[in-house]
Amino acid sequence: MKNLGMGMMRLPLLDENDFTSIDYEQVNQMVDAFMDAGFNYFDTAFIYHETVGEQAFKKCVADRYPRDSFKIATKLPLFIITEESQLEPLFSQQLENCGVDYFDYFMLHNVSGFTETAWKNVDLYSFIQKKKEEGYIKHIGISTHGNAEFLEEILFEHPELEFVLLQINYLDWEDDNIESAKCLEVARKYNKQVMVMEPYKGGFLADVPEEAEKIMKEYAPDRSVVSWAMRFVANIDDVCVVLTGASTIDQLEENIKEIKNADPLNDDELKVLDEVSQIINSNITVDCTKCRYCVDACPEEIDIAKVFDLYNKHKLLEQDDWTQFGNAYLNYSKLEGVGIASDCSECESCIEECPQQINIPEVLKDVAKTFENEIYGFNE
Ligand code: SF4
Ligand code: SF4
Repeated sequence: MKNLGMGMMRLPLLDENDFTSIDYEQVNQMVDAFMDAGFNYFDTAFIYHETVGEQAFKKCVADRYPRDSFKIATKLPLFIITEESQLEPLFSQQLENCGVDYFDYFMLHNVSGFTETAWKNVDLYSFIQKKKEEGYIKHIGISTHGNAEFLEEILFEHPELEFVLLQINYLDWEDDNIESAKCLEVARKYNKQVMVMEPYKGGFLADVPEEAEKIMKEYAPDRSVVSWAMRFVANIDDVCVVLTGASTIDQLEENIKEIKNADPLNDDELKVLDEVSQIINSNITVDCTKCRYCVDACPEEIDIAKVFDLYNKHKLLEQDDWTQFGNAYLNYSKLEGVGIASDCSECESCIEECPQQINIPEVLKDVAKTFENEIYGFNE
C-alpha cells in the first residue's frame, strides 16, 4: 500500500470567505483519524491559509503528538525572497511556526521559470543543503509544476536534491503543459523519490461531469469516482507518498479508505479513464486547481480562485442565465475589501504565480462578461 500524506492546503474553515479561520476542532479530528489509520506524513507550506497554515500544523499535530510519531514536510516561499539575508530569519520562523526543531522534508516551493526570476541571485539550493548539514532538515527537494524539460534542467544541475513533489493524476498524465508522465520519467532517470500532489486535480476528479460518472458507474457500479483517481496514482511504481488535501473529515476518511483499497487498474479500466478524461477536458472551462498562489499577487484583491471556481461550476450547468453560482458571485461581490472580475487592471502580476499557466486576466474578462454583464447587468 502507498503512503498517504495529509495535505494541509485546503483545511476546513469556519468562515468560507476567511482563509485564516481554520476550524481547528475539525482539523484535530482529521489528524486523529489520519494517525489512527496508520499514516503520519503531513504536508504544509509557509503560504498556506494566508501564512497561518504552518501554525495550524503546530496546533493540531506538533503540540498534540510526540515528535517521533509524525513526519512534516514544508516549503520555502520562493516568491517573497529577493535577498540572501531573508533566508535565516525565514527558515527559523518556519521551524517556530511548525513547532519543531527539524523538518523531515523541506522543499523549494513551486520552482518554475517564472518564480526563479525573483531569486536568481540568491543561492537557495546551497542554503537548504547547509540546513540539512546542520541537522535542521532530513531530506531536501523541490515542488514544481514545471514541464519535463524544466525538471530535467533542475535535476541535472542539482544532484543534491533527494525528492520531487509532482502534480500527477490521470487527467494531467499526458497533458501538454503539466506532462505528469514525462516528469515522472525524468525523476526516475535521476533516481529521485517522488511525492504526488493534486491526485484529484484540485477536486475536478472528485466531481466529474455526469456523463463521465455514468461511464464509470456502468463499468463498476460499486466504485466511487474518487477511487478511480486514487487507484491511478497509488499504483504508479516509485511514488512514495500521495498527498490529498481534504477539507472535511468525510473527505479524509474517504481518502484513507480508497488508498487502502487501491488495487491496480486493468487495461479496460485505463480505457475508461481515457474516455472520462476526454469528457472532463471538454467540460472544464478554467483549469484552476484552487491553489491560491495567485491571490496575494493581485493588487485589486480579486479572489481569483473563488471566482474561477464559481465560474467553472456555473459553466458546467450549461445555463445561460441565473444559477446558484451566479448568485454566489453576487454575494461575493458585496463583501468588503474584495475585487470583482471587472476590477482586473491586467497588470499580469498573477500570471507568473499560476502553476497551471492560466491567462488569468483574459479568463477574468469572460467571468465579468458572464456574471456581471449577462446575468446581473452590473454595468448597465
Ligand atoms: S492581472 Fe488582474 S487578476 Fe491578475 S493580479 Fe493584475 S489585477 Fe489581479
Ligand atoms: S488561477 Fe492558477 S494560481 Fe490561481 S488558484 Fe487557480 S491554479 Fe492556482
